Amino acid sequence: MVVTRFAPSPTGYLHIGGLRTALYNYLWARKNKGKFLLRIEDTDLKRNSKEAMEAIKEAFDWTGLSYDEDVIYQSKRFDIYKSYIEKLLKEKKAYYCYMTKEELDKLREEQIKRKERPRYDGRYRDFEGEPPKGVSPVVRIKVPLGESIEFEDGVKGKISVKVDDVMDDFIIQRSDGTPTYNFVVAIDDALMGITDVIRGDDHLSNTPKQIVVYKALGFDIPKFYHVPMILNPQGKKLSKRDGAMDVMEYKRMGYLPEALLNFLVRLGWSYKDQEIFTLEEMLRLFDPHDINKSASAYNAQKLLWLNAHYIKNSPYERLIKELEFFGVFISDHDKREILIDSLKDRSKTLKEMADAAKKILNTPKEYDEKALKKFIKEETVDILKKFLLSLKEAKELHLPVDWEEFVKSFMQKEDLKLKQLAQPLRIALVGDTVSPSIYDVLSVVGKEGVIFRIEKLLNQITGGK
Ligand code: GLU
Repeated sequence: MVVTRFAPSPTGYLHIGGLRTALYNYLWARKNKGKFLLRIEDTDLKRNSKEAMEAIKEAFDWTGLSYDEDVIYQSKRFDIYKSYIEKLLKEKKAYYCYMTKEELDKLREEQIKRKERPRYDGRYRDFEGEPPKGVSPVVRIKVPLGESIEFEDGVKGKISVKVDDVMDDFIIQRSDGTPTYNFVVAIDDALMGITDVIRGDDHLSNTPKQIVVYKALGFDIPKFYHVPMILNPQGKKLSKRDGAMDVMEYKRMGYLPEALLNFLVRLGWSYKDQEIFTLEEMLRLFDPHDINKSASAYNAQKLLWLNAHYIKNSPYERLIKELEFFGVFISDHDKREILIDSLKDRSKTLKEMADAAKKILNTPKEYDEKALKKFIKEETVDILKKFLLSLKEAKELHLPVDWEEFVKSFMQKEDLKLKQLAQPLRIALVGDTVSPSIYDVLSVVGKEGVIFRIEKLLNQITGGK
């Protein structure tokens, strides 16, 4: 059975790089009918924050990435780590090292002077004598000096490093008794039965050390997939400004979670030249072996394009619900379908859609100065007045087609062109000249509302005369 995990450190918000890692692990586990586990790497008690933890859960909820079993918190597992430290000490695969900070600094200085790579010299590796007094020792693991660590990375291919080049007998327990990062990751991955570790390639240099721990404890080594970073369009590390902000910020900006997941799955993985992936397709087609070997570039336009696609294809009940987050409540409006249909083809984000909906649903508080100057002249005031009169005498008008028929016959009677009426009418209805189809807007605002809005504009221009 495939068991994967997402293992965030709750020291900041969850950003899209993290969410992409989570998504890949989720897809691979679900595709194989395996398990996807969540482990919170909160051993750095000083840097943890409750908000960051909440933000991770919130982002999982929003995107629908569900995990199996209870969340594992490393901070609650110190006893487990301790027992494995003791086991290694007993088996002489690890040892106490009594070197003081001063001694370590001195050693380092000398090594740098000799142009050697600074490293622990192993002086307590086989120490048998009386330990020095007054020093709280660290515990170091015996790394297999002279050997190589090799593994087949599912993305990068064969990785082989000489132990002596990349590590020394590294610390697995600090002098204050707390275990170190690579040690606990290896213990947890082994105890949680993780078979596949998909993570950012910033962790690639940790993997050989974790493999040393696996081997020392006789654990099975999982399969590793190290995913290249997401870069900005300039090829630099993605910053907050480029898009590496809190995942929930995407919700606030009006993105649908399925658009974000689709965007992320393609950011570093591809299947033929397909761009749109439903979750069902992702589950069927995703394979971490196909993850790109090179870094991918964040493309804000593509995310907008995908979001527009998902908005356009969402059922209107869903959009009505989503718009509530942006303060637009249209569930009891009898023209809500017309409103949504009219907006969903032209909105790149839900926020944009909500703003456009508010413009239609509310009588404008003010009018765009430039539009007033350009389109509201003596003759347009006349046209609006005539239109108002004719509207007051008209029968009930409901659907956009009813309005279209009414407007067209009015224009014919008055010998007008559509644009002579449409722009001033738009200003009256929504405050400026930007709106979807005028017939849709008229239909949603309704006859009473249209009359009210035209009168309001006329009052403002003519000062009530
Ligand atoms: N906690 C690590 C991080 O936030 C991930 C560790 C791992 O995936 O092995 O980057």
